[in-house]
Amino acid sequence: MKPKFIFFTDFDGTITLQDSNNYMTDNIGYGEAKRKQGNKDTLEGNITFRDSFKDMMDSVTRPYSECIEFLVQNIKLDPHFNEFYKWALGNNVPVVVLTGGMEPIVKALLEKLVGSDFDKLQVVGNNVAARPGKTIDEEGGWTITFRDESEHGHDKSLTLRPYAELPESERPVMFYAGDGVSDVSAARETDLLFAKKGEDLITYCVREDIPFTLFENWKSILEKVKQIYNGDISVKDAAAEGHRLFKAGQAGVDM
Ligand SMILES: [Mg+2]
Repeated sequence: MKPKFIFFTDFDGTITLQDSNNYMTDNIGYGEAKRKQGNKDTLEGNITFRDSFKDMMDSVTRPYSECIEFLVQNIKLDPHFNEFYKWALGNNVPVVVLTGGMEPIVKALLEKLVGSDFDKLQVVGNNVAARPGKTIDEEGGWTITFRDESEHGHDKSLTLRPYAELPESERPVMFYAGDGVSDVSAARETDLLFAKKGEDLITYCVREDIPFTLFENWKSILEKVKQIYNGDISVKDAAAEGHRLFKAGQAGVDM
């Protein structure tokens, strides 16, 4: 049966509690202060996500296998994601992970944190390659390779649009969940955007007047998706909530 709903989601800081790329950069790359400045410059439009992110990744020189191991030991899943994912699997709601991160890292973390059903999650992201004359498993041996030529590195809208352009009768209701700068290219493309409370994506949506709803964790996402799935609330009403909560000072960010 064709799915009536499809759930796209960011990975870092959305499915996981910490952003694995930030975590690598802060701990084994050029450090938190420089990374935060890069995020700020990206949000303010002074540097592209692609360039800022490549700088971050280039500052991490450990062998790739060590990076994966370091992250697998330190990154934690949102405690409610597995409950959401189980519900989605049982209700014919495909879950597609759209990431600005690198697929091998995301898949290794999902395998560890989600368990045996992890391979039913489709992962679309950037990748990794060896530098000339090196292998990825030696010091300074790897570099990030981007999915497309866009300033985002992985323009998430390119993955979302073919679904959005399906004829009305076949088109599933599209959800997207995200938290930050890597989600800017996805923010306008779906029917309902879940933006994480207190995070940069909210600042962006408010500034650009993009409808959204808030989430704190996957428990709040599951509750809202169930309400929509059961017809208790419309997608349109849900999408109007974010700006209302922001104006009431309840979105966890100030402008
Ligand atoms: Mg993120």
